[in-house]
Amino acid sequence: MTQKDPYLLTPGPLTTSLSVKEAMLHDWGSWDGEFNRLTGEVCERLLRVAGGEGSHVCVPMQGSGTFAVEATLGTLIPPASTTLVLMNGAYGQRIGKILDTLGRPYLAINKGDYHPPRGEDVARVLADKPEIEQVVVVHCETSSGILNPIEEIADVCREAGKRLIIDSMSAFGAVPVNVAELPCAALVSSANKCFEGVPGFGFAIVERELLAASAGQCHSLSLDLHAQWQYMEKTGQWRFTPPTHVVAAFLQAMCEHEAEGGVAGRLARYRRNRDRLVAGLREIGFQTLLADEWLSPIITTFLSPDSPNFEFSRFYDAIKARGFLIYPGKLTVADSFRVGCIGQLHDEQIDAVVSAISDACQELGLSVPVPAPAAAPDNLEHA
Ligand SMILES: *Cc1c(COP(=O)(O)O)cnc(C)c1O
Repeated sequence: MTQKDPYLLTPGPLTTSLSVKEAMLHDWGSWDGEFNRLTGEVCERLLRVAGGEGSHVCVPMQGSGTFAVEATLGTLIPPASTTLVLMNGAYGQRIGKILDTLGRPYLAINKGDYHPPRGEDVARVLADKPEIEQVVVVHCETSSGILNPIEEIADVCREAGKRLIIDSMSAFGAVPVNVAELPCAALVSSANKCFEGVPGFGFAIVERELLAASAGQCHSLSLDLHAQWQYMEKTGQWRFTPPTHVVAAFLQAMCEHEAEGGVAGRLARYRRNRDRLVAGLREIGFQTLLADEWLSPIITTFLSPDSPNFEFSRFYDAIKARGFLIYPGKLTVADSFRVGCIGQLHDEQIDAVVSAISDACQELGLSVPVPAPAAAPDNLEHA
């Protein structure tokens, strides 16, 4: 990495290893067997990490993660079928917006900014509205950093005979999930989150039988996941121009993920990053939005201190001048900022970002420990 690149404490794109970047120093022909082998190995590895080898298939899709979510919803959900969307932040709301755009009917359980959707909430609505055929949930709601309880939601779906679709964009690769055991009909993620690749494609891990039954259902030509799958099965190629360099970098990233101990190894490092970050920032007076039990090892929301001297853009610039990019908050209820734990970040970088934040506070004229946040949002402890 060149010295000038700041560390990205953001939930993707994130800081990648030098070897992942170096994997992009070649040009591949999109029709060529060598490139097709890269794609095949990526899909095979992803399926293995998800525990879906016997039941599911992996289909990549060009574009950012949202393209893959839209492709999955548009391909798998029949036009007149009703969906239940669980919302507790920006990404759950985005799923609703996609279904609105596609003209697919849906109901929502909206828990606001950060309260988790619980199994009992879902069971109640499913009992009440038998027309619902599938439930969509966000695994780690990256807008607050909450890790949603997908196991209890999957249990309720299984008992009620409903399909479950998971946006595991920011969790897959670092939070264990087994699509066959859970079970879930589809899980969607992308290259630039916990596997630590560069941005350029997403992928869906879908029950083979469900995907096979979805021919002709998609609203879009280019986002048709069934057509992409069929073409890839037949030719080994992507249907339209693939992000060749991104795929090569992703295979390298997957090898490094495996070498780190797979999901367990990555989870251990991200948890350690989070614990170190939260302890360090609490020591200088910052408070987390969520109680410890709901903190994901992906990204943490901190409440802004209640001081006229705390201005996010100045805070951001002062931290950036010290070599780190953080993320603004995304809450409607309270001023906040977010710090990510994913990417090539280790003890040294976490300690350095805590120091950078402490220095930035002093530069802004805040006393350290910093003042408490303004009125804490309700139910923090029980969120
Ligand atoms: C990153 C992310 C997405 C996809 O966002 P893009 O900007 O389209 O890559 C979707 N859902 C969640 C939970 C995410 O964290």
